Amino acid sequence: MANSKFEYVRNFEQPDNLLPNTWIVVRIDGRGFTKFANKYAFEKPNDRRALDLMNAAAKAVMSELPEITIAYGISDEYSFVFHKSCVLFERRSSKLVTTIVSTFTSYYIYLWPTYFPETPLSPPLPSFDGRAVCYPSVQNLRDYMSWRQVDCHINNLYNTTFWALIQQGGMGNLDAEELLKGTYAADKNEILFSKFGINYNNEPEIYKKGSVVFRAYELVEPGTHNAAAEADGLAEPVQQSKNQTEIDKKRRAKARIVIEHLDIIKDEFWDRRPWLLS
Ligand code: ATP
Ligand code: ATP
Ligand code: MG
Ligand code: MG
Ligand code: MG
Ligand code: MG
Repeated sequence: MANSKFEYVRNFEQPDNLLPNTWIVVRIDGRGFTKFANKYAFEKPNDRRALDLMNAAAKAVMSELPEITIAYGISDEYSFVFHKSCVLFERRSSKLVTTIVSTFTSYYIYLWPTYFPETPLSPPLPSFDGRAVCYPSVQNLRDYMSWRQVDCHINNLYNTTFWALIQQGGMGNLDAEELLKGTYAADKNEILFSKFGINYNNEPEIYKKGSVVFRAYELVEPGTHNAAAEADGLAEPVQQSKNQTEIDKKRRAKARIVIEHLDIIKDEFWDRRPWLLS
């Protein structure tokens, strides 16, 4: 098409390509979900339907974007990780973030009736914000994931105790808040056990650990040589041919996507799934 005299305005667009060779994390978070949760009467402290819906939307995002290696979700947020070699959208931040946010939101709304058949959505409709952050090393990326999972644990222990005091202890919100001020994890465990007979360790894993979404390949046994991966070309050192990259991409697109509630702070999760970080 011929250049028009208006076309110079394109030069006002700023490049926003993310640093090469770094792990990209796009984290999305529900806007005003405290209010949203009240409007749709989410069960407190954890509405299982709402978590399942978040997970289903995240799984759909992962199947539409095979470049995503792993995702982690808690409450109204989800973190999506792109491999450091990812070149999708030339690593343009706004493209990556907006595509994830809009794909996630579309599925959240599309799948809503499956999880909340009795309460149809009405405006204002749910929406999400998003940001992209680059992590230069595997250690930084793992620390990021650990940070989110620790957050999940801290919030869930607090919320579980807070709502037990209210729902089973008949306490008011303010009194419960006052009682929990300055308490440590051990104190909350003790309150749960002595007052309500709740052993926090027996709470559902999905609430305690959050949700990890990833492609399921064959697990590596702890402490063994990864022969399966080697036979599969996974253990091949660096520099893949373009052909191999294409094969890997197709293989990723076909792999089953699973949702689990595992510890991602300890080494075991990563050691047994070396394809996630290699
Ligand atoms: P912002 O727009 O700043 O993110 P927010 O109200 O969404 O505001 P968050 O810090 O994101 O604040 O907190 C999420 C809120 O949604 C919390 O109040 C949390 O209790 C609620 N929530 C999210 N998921 C669930 C769930 N599955 N069950 C019960 N409550 C939930
Ligand atoms: P990208 O993901 O790079 O944006 P794209 O296929 O969406 O790829 P665009 O340059 O955004 O490419 O072009 C939008 C496409 O959608 C065009 O092919 C256009 O013909 C089609 N399209 C959009 N709106 C309409 C419409 N109302 N009627 C017919 N075709 C439409
Ligand atoms: Mg927020
Ligand atoms: Mg929020
Ligand atoms: Mg949140
Ligand atoms: Mg388009």
